[in-house]
Amino acid sequence: MLIVQKFGGTSVGDLERIQNVANRVSETKKAGHDVVVVVSAMSGETNKLVAYAEHFSADPERSEMDMLLSSGERVTASLLAIALNAMGHSAVSMSGRKAGIVTDNLHTKARIEEIDPTAMHKAIKEGKIIVVAGFQGVSLDGNVTTLGRGGSDLSAVAIAGAIKADLCEIYTDVSGIYTTDPRIEPKAKKLDKISYDEMLELASLGAKVLQNRSVELAKKLNVNLVTRTSFSNEEGTLITKEENIMEKPLVSGIALDKNQARVSLFGVKDRTGIASDIFNKLAQNNVNIDMIIQNVAHDGSANIDFTVPVGDLSDAKKVVAEFIESGDITEQSYDEKICKVSIVGVGMKSHTGVAAKAFTTMANENINITMISTSEIKVSMVIAEKYAELAVRSLHDAYELDK
Ligand code: ADP
Ligand code: ASP
Ligand code: MG
Repeated sequence: MLIVQKFGGTSVGDLERIQNVANRVSETKKAGHDVVVVVSAMSGETNKLVAYAEHFSADPERSEMDMLLSSGERVTASLLAIALNAMGHSAVSMSGRKAGIVTDNLHTKARIEEIDPTAMHKAIKEGKIIVVAGFQGVSLDGNVTTLGRGGSDLSAVAIAGAIKADLCEIYTDVSGIYTTDPRIEPKAKKLDKISYDEMLELASLGAKVLQNRSVELAKKLNVNLVTRTSFSNEEGTLITKEENIMEKPLVSGIALDKNQARVSLFGVKDRTGIASDIFNKLAQNNVNIDMIIQNVAHDGSANIDFTVPVGDLSDAKKVVAEFIESGDITEQSYDEKICKVSIVGVGMKSHTGVAAKAFTTMANENINITMISTSEIKVSMVIAEKYAELAVRSLHDAYELDK
């Protein structure tokens, strides 16, 4: 088999753990498989580099951030290759550029445009173990780019698709996908299988165990994706097509996203096209909008509230400031002390009362819901951040996910 194995930050967190990864990769190779390894930076490393940059500037150039942050993954990739070679294997590390990962030039959240697998194919043919530095690529104009936080998952899935790997294993510090973050709810249960769509919702709604774009791509390319732990041989969770899952629970999991902020716009001029103007401008500035609420207009103006990831807040504020300048909006305010709690499950498609149960659960805990959004397979609620963990645990109980 041709296997892609991705090891996250904790799995390569120190030299001993990198040796542990080398041993695991070695076993896979000795079992007769071809292996392409994708690694993250050592845990904490990327955050440390971000803090270094912020020491000098509140708004560092994004292209410089990419030069800086991509270095973390290169350290691990070369160390792992060195460790494998010392064990008698023939291993070679590759930067994103060498691995042929071409992206657009949207620095710090670049999208993969194509992968040229020539160098990887050649190395595999020569019997080499390839260790690719995750999270990075090269733009068409030759600059280093990174793929957004958690982006090594995307590197792994994209490579698995490009080289037509039989399997893509994501090794992390928990043994698979759980009904909710096991660090918040110790009673959370590991799932044997989960559909791409449910996993995509969970990942997009805050379950950082997989980066959402990696799940989206895995679905598109039909990559066999498994999440498991690098610390034991315990079996993980298979992320697969919905039709491969016999038993469809009503609710599969609960996600929490504390990384959200709410932007409130007051006195928005009630004219045709205003929402289009505001949200197009936000989109052009790559501000990721999630929930939107517009209230009934009084005396020719309305209030609009929306949520954005905290990282996009400064860009959002700049855009809104332009509309305040031009008189289309009177005032803005924002709140970072919110969070979004979501329940996800394909079973919701065919059952009623799922959302009502979530609202009742919040009411019983005296938690005020300030925004709601739903889709076919999810219900999301914005609440005060201080109630985040309580909300997750009570929802987990309410839907009996520990059973
Ligand atoms: P890595 O460094 O390996 O990429 P991450 O820290 O990005 O690992 O993701 C793993 C973490 O995701 C776990 O430690 C866990 O706390 C968190 N997590 C959140 N939701 C879930 C979930 N539903 N199932 C498993 N882990 C989850
Ligand atoms: N090191 C990067 C991050 O911390 C990418 C990754 O780990 O996937 O976001
Ligand atoms: Mg991760």
